[in-house]
Amino acid sequence: MIDTSNLYNAVIIGSGPAGYTAGIYLGRAGFKPLLLTGSLLPGGELTETTLVENYPGFPEGIQGPELMDNMKAQAEKFDVQMETEDAESVEDGDGFKIVHTHSGDIRTKTVVVATGSAHRKLDIPGEKEYAGLGVSYCATCDGFFFRNKRIAVIGGGDSALTDALFLTRFSDSVFLVHRRDVFRSRGVLPQRVKEDPKIKIEFNSIPVEVLGDGKKVTGLKLKDKVSGEERELAIDAIFVDIGSVPQTDFLGSYLELDPAGYILTKGASSLTSRAGVFAAGDCCDPVYRQAVSAAGSGCKAAIDAQRYLLN
Ligand code: NAP
Repeated sequence: MIDTSNLYNAVIIGSGPAGYTAGIYLGRAGFKPLLLTGSLLPGGELTETTLVENYPGFPEGIQGPELMDNMKAQAEKFDVQMETEDAESVEDGDGFKIVHTHSGDIRTKTVVVATGSAHRKLDIPGEKEYAGLGVSYCATCDGFFFRNKRIAVIGGGDSALTDALFLTRFSDSVFLVHRRDVFRSRGVLPQRVKEDPKIKIEFNSIPVEVLGDGKKVTGLKLKDKVSGEERELAIDAIFVDIGSVPQTDFLGSYLELDPAGYILTKGASSLTSRAGVFAAGDCCDPVYRQAVSAAGSGCKAAIDAQRYLLN
């Protein structure tokens, strides 16, 4: 339970690789941090992925949810207090910080913001209306429901290609829809999707409308980027995999953000525009956005917070 009469050493906001790693370091150093996991997706985006092949230490790969369970267990081993709460805002008190939550105001000497990012939306007609009725943002969660159905995956990055390959477990007709004629994804994934007979790549295709019968998705209207012509794909499910946006709205003007909403940090450190507030993971990283780089930045934030506390 959150103790609103306590002055915590550190409150970590967020429970992805960055938040858990900050917790492991601060907990192991004896600072008894409080970690707010968030209520929507404790464990963060990796809990929605399948096989993670590029996290060091797992030569055969590891399932995303299992990786996050391991990180959580490791943090708990070092007495990190976890609460399923969302930070609603943060402000400065008199010599401390105040993290406002639904369950009350938390006083703390330092804050580590590790809130990650959320799925970007297409913002086209029909997307909102058919969310949960064929439009999904999580192939791992919802792929199973579309066994033997026609599926479209939208995007050209690692997430879209990984999900297209995953969805071939359920369907022989997976359409990979990308707005350009070159994938953003590099490495082995483009070759794998090109060689997969169950995946049909639709390059230069811009989604313009989700079509449905009022109850479920029936198709996707696409515009050809070159000719400008529109066409319709008969589809039962649409997985939107077009990147993410940093989850920093709750900070208001408390910290300096870049125009896209990422928290600005000083040099190679995790220091933000407020003394005693540190940032880690995808919420301050528009470039790398990997589980391992998020974990590394969680470590840096914990060490920066420790130095601040000891000084
Ligand atoms: P991303 O790399 O930002 O790619 C987003 C894709 O969506 C791009 O191809 C982009 O097109 C497209 N897109 C963006 N807005 C769009 C719109 N409004 N309509 C249509 N298409 C749109 O995002 P991500 O694939 O989620 O990857 C995020 C990070 O996670 C990356 O660093 C990635 O390497 C990492 N990741 C790694 C793995 C892995 O290693 N196994 C798996 C998943 C993710 P353009 O290309 O034209 O901009």
